[in-house]
Amino acid sequence: MRKKIVAGNWKMNKTADEGLALVSEVVNMVNAEVTGDVTVVLCPPALYLTTYKPYLTGNKLALGAQNCHEKASGAYTGEISAPMLKSIGVDYVILGHSERRQYFGETNAQLAEKVNSALENGLTPIFCCGESLEMRENGDYLGFVKAQITESLFHLTDEQITKVVIAYEPIWAIGTGLTATSAQAQDMHFELRQHLAGQYGDAVAQEISILYGGSANAQNAAELFAQPDVDGGLIGGASLKSRDFVTVVK
Ligand code: PGA
Repeated sequence: MRKKIVAGNWKMNKTADEGLALVSEVVNMVNAEVTGDVTVVLCPPALYLTTYKPYLTGNKLALGAQNCHEKASGAYTGEISAPMLKSIGVDYVILGHSERRQYFGETNAQLAEKVNSALENGLTPIFCCGESLEMRENGDYLGFVKAQITESLFHLTDEQITKVVIAYEPIWAIGTGLTATSAQAQDMHFELRQHLAGQYGDAVAQEISILYGGSANAQNAAELFAQPDVDGGLIGGASLKSRDFVTVVK
């Protein structure tokens, strides 16, 4: 059975107090209302990770960062490394979000190094991939997304790849209110799992959780998550409101 995961990517939102209120509400609701077998990963801005860690009580909740540097330490002003995240009790790290790729120029090769650093330090990477609208309409979007996975993940061993979570996030659906249909999500997730099976074999591919991200919310999550190859979600906007987020989790 693949792990079911719902991760909340807060991006650059919430002051310290607002964030703490949100964390407290989410923890209380998850512990009181969520009975299913699901891991809920909260990914606030890095600044708050240490403060929020003790609030994540119960066995369903985990803490995630939104990025890390590929090196363990050194002269990289403003950056945070995987061993630093691990040392404060972080469990997951989002890598290769389309906003990081677009605004900070992250490449597949650099992301391969970030994935390595995360795994070496016992963090679970949530590796993001996904195509633009232009690509979806005119290009080989499937080949593009497969190449993101090939170039950043296919150097890993069987044992390592099963520790990676993949998030398929079509860029045209992120923060736009335009969600992929459940059929579009399932088609892509199926293709990506086939791609993983081509490299690692079916047994390994069947173990890897593939999350959907892109305007997933309280209204559409049930249908998206009911698809056989969709193992949960990476949630942006809807993770900023406790009731919406916990409805997605449920
Ligand atoms: P969204 O963001 O849910 O606001 O579309 C998803 C993401 O970027 O991870």
